[in-house]
Amino acid sequence: ANTVDILGIHFLNTTEKAFQNILHKRINDGTNTFVVTANPEIVMYAKSDPSYEKLIQTADYIIPDGIGIIIGAKMLKTPLHERVTGYDLFVHLLEWGNAHQKSAYFVGAQPAVIRKLRKVVEKDYPFLTIAGTHDGYFGDDRNIVHDINRTKPDMVFVATGYPKQEEFIDKNRSASDGLWIGIGGSFDVLTG
Ligand code: UDP
Repeated sequence: ANTVDILGIHFLNTTEKAFQNILHKRINDGTNTFVVTANPEIVMYAKSDPSYEKLIQTADYIIPDGIGIIIGAKMLKTPLHERVTGYDLFVHLLEWGNAHQKSAYFVGAQPAVIRKLRKVVEKDYPFLTIAGTHDGYFGDDRNIVHDINRTKPDMVFVATGYPKQEEFIDKNRSASDGLWIGIGGSFDVLTG
């Protein structure tokens, strides 16, 4: 794939539309897919924590979420096509999933936020099946993973902030094929 290297992190050089199409195909094919939506904070954190850097290098795609990444790429004279934010991808995938009757599992945010998220999704995306939801303040992830393994959702949205969300995905992505994506504070934004 066409990537741009920023401090050793390989960003996919794509447009939002083209990346959406890549994800549609992989979800339809049931291809296990790990997406990191990386902003400058994530890049800097990765540089300070080699095990986290190694972990995010195993992702299928690292996407430039954050104008700082776009500016950095330009300064290095290897410009990226455009910014692709985790939140915009999240909203797009809810719409697409609703139109194509897909299923999704949601992990993250405070209990009150995830309760509200369920209501919002039920109302605004009625043909998207909610495979399950769990707040992001858990010690042991066994019940969540068991639930994901049982329900086999097309998409798993993990919104527990970095590095927790990427660590969760790396550890558990073999539980179900389809898309696993870390999307930071997106549940708060959608319900806010
Ligand atoms: N969060 C969570 N579990 C945690 C810590 C944070 O679910 O153990 C949630 C938090 O409630 C918020 C989201 O993660 O909804 C994103 O947090 P933050 O804004 O810190 O995101 P970051 O910029 O760190 O990715």
